[in-house]
Amino acid sequence: MTPRLAEIVFLIGAVIWFIIRIPARRRARKTAVKTSGRGRRETMLMATSLAGLGIVPFVYIAADFAGAPFRFLSFADRPFVPALAWLGTLAFAASLWLFRRTHKDLGRNWSVSLDIRESHRLITTGVYGLVRHPMYSAFWLWAIAQALLLPNWVAGLAGIAGFGVLFFGRVGEEERLMCEAFGEEYRAYMRRTSRVLPGLY
Ligand code: SAH
Repeated sequence: MTPRLAEIVFLIGAVIWFIIRIPARRRARKTAVKTSGRGRRETMLMATSLAGLGIVPFVYIAADFAGAPFRFLSFADRPFVPALAWLGTLAFAASLWLFRRTHKDLGRNWSVSLDIRESHRLITTGVYGLVRHPMYSAFWLWAIAQALLLPNWVAGLAGIAGFGVLFFGRVGEEERLMCEAFGEEYRAYMRRTSRVLPGLY
């Protein structure tokens, strides 16, 4: 494994993630929304997450491809450790597998933000039987993979910081919305599942 190959792994992972989302986005456009938790705060959270998991690493990789005069984050470079990059590749593969599962299991109930749809069904099976926010588990895996793959403290840790802001800023509000929409059914689901890490959190 070389630093260049690790960057390519990251780019390929991002493309696959984008492809996994295409049918979900198409379905979401066709499914009417009843109530929504969207607003300025949600937009800010999503922008922060996009910056940390996407824009910062992409600009870093593009600058690295372009070469010396464009490498503006070099002050934060760390040594490249091939074993860590391999571990990052595994984490990214696990993240993409989980992403695909969550999109399949959520089906028409998927949303890029916080929406309760007209015909919203509470999903508690498949990977939603293991934890109640498996898509966020997948994003955490992406953020960890990013930190392991990119040998730069800023570009590597931007994902954990950016997604961390979205996760901790959103998850409570999402659960409140789900409790409002599904009442005791969601509260019982909360009692028997963890948020993102089975048995731990
Ligand atoms: N937090 C979940 C889903 C993220 S997508 C996860 O990490 O897997 C966000 C949308 O999914 C929101 O509109 C929310 O209403 C919906 N949602 C969250 N959990 C759900 C569930 N168990 N069943 C159905 N819809 C769910």
